[in-house]
This record gives sequence, C-alpha cells and structure tokens, in this order.
Amino acid sequence: MRFDVLTLFPDMIRSVCETSIVGRASTAGIISVYAHNIRDYSTDKHRRVDDTPYGGGKGMLMAPAPVVDCHEAVKGMAEGSSHTVFLSPKGKVLTQRKAKELAGYDRLILLCGHYEGIDQRAIDAVCDEEISIGDYVLTGGELPACVLIDSVARLIPGVLAEAACHEIESISCGMLEYPQYTHPEVFRGEAVPEVLLSGNHREIEKWRHAEALKLTKKLRPDLL
Ligand code: SAM
Repeated sequence: MRFDVLTLFPDMIRSVCETSIVGRASTAGIISVYAHNIRDYSTDKHRRVDDTPYGGGKGMLMAPAPVVDCHEAVKGMAEGSSHTVFLSPKGKVLTQRKAKELAGYDRLILLCGHYEGIDQRAIDAVCDEEISIGDYVLTGGELPACVLIDSVARLIPGVLAEAACHEIESISCGMLEYPQYTHPEVFRGEAVPEVLLSGNHREIEKWRHAEALKLTKKLRPDLL
C-alpha cells in the first residue's frame, strides 16, 4: 500500500514513519510512505503558501494553487486509483472501522493543513473525505496523518509480526483488551494472576474474556 502525504513539514512525517514497525514495513517494501512539500509548488518568489482570509479574521490560510498543483503532481507519480483524505477537525472522527475501510485502498493521499487551514476551493477540488483524529484542535495535520498511517498500516498483512495480533486487541474485537503480564512473576509484591501460570488454556481464555468484559463495562460501556 502506498501513502503520499502533502505537507509543509515533510520531516515530521519522515521522522515518524521511518521509525519502529511502520518504518520496518517500509524498508521491507510492504508499504511505502512519501512526504511531499507543498511549498515546492509555490510560484511565489519567497515560496509563500499562505495568505490572509477574505472577509477578515485572525490568522493565515493556505492558498489553493500550491495545494492543488501539488496534489495533481503527486497523483501522477503512480498509476492506478487513489483516495484523498484531508486531515481536519471538521472531519468524521477516525475509528478502527474507518481504519479497516481505508486499508482496502491501494493508495491514500493525505492532505495536511496548517495555520488556520486551507482555502475551501482546494479542499473541494482534491479531497474525497475529511477525517479528524478527535475533538480537539492541533497546529497541523501532520500528527493526524501519522496517526492515520499507523492505524491503517498495521492492518496490512505482513506489517505486524503475527497476522491476527490486531484482531484480539482493544476496540478491534468489540471490547477492551484483558490485562496482560510478563516477567517477573511477582513485582513489588504484586503477583501475576494464578490462572495465567496454570498452563490450562481453556481456563486462561475464560479468565481473559471475563476480565475484558469487566473492564469494558467499567471504562467503555458504550462499546458493548
Ligand atoms: N481553523 C480550523 C478549524 O477551526 O477547523 C483549524 C485549523 S488547525 C489550527 C490547522 C490544521 O491542523 C487543520 O487544517 C488540519 O489539517 C489540522 N488539524 C487540527 N486538528 C485536527 C484534528 N483534530 N484532526 C485532524 N486534523 C487536525
């Protein structure tokens, strides 16, 4: 799967996506993440990409031309279809279900806003949908783009070491995950639940299911 990120801060995308599991998946050629600098498409002699909003108001807006030109150029860099997402606090909030849906595309183009956002005409011209990562406002779309890439990439076969890992995790399975423990058996006086040491896999499964249910009822009853 290919991700193209249109941004004013490509290094933010690279520093996250070249690290850890997503970085290893890129090196292995399972996914590819390209960050493109929208500023490279500015025709202004000072490479400006922002301007004041019509009608007045605080802050600056990203002008439409560099965004649309960048999108056109990037779209042409690979064959086949693509789906363009604008990361925006106005979008539908990202969920595990949405991540699964996005994982079905061969290519995602992610548009990151900055300042007060982007001229609406550019958004209308290039975007298929708007996605938010939560009901709060960040300074730019770069962290949301990285969140989206991470949540989608780990669903691509081969990205996680164990294929079914994501199916038994919180949210994915419709509940929060049961508590997990590793060595040592006793840590600061707290012992690992005995059933986990029993070797009885049926009992372990029963315990895990009961714990997951208990936790979900307590912390996220809306999931049930
Ligand atoms: N004026 C805009 C508004 O009220 O909708 C907010 C602009 S915000 C300061 C700058 C950029 O950060 C946005 O264009 C968007 O790309 C990104 N952004 C901020 N919060 C976000 C969120 N919760 N989810 C996704 N993107 C976000």
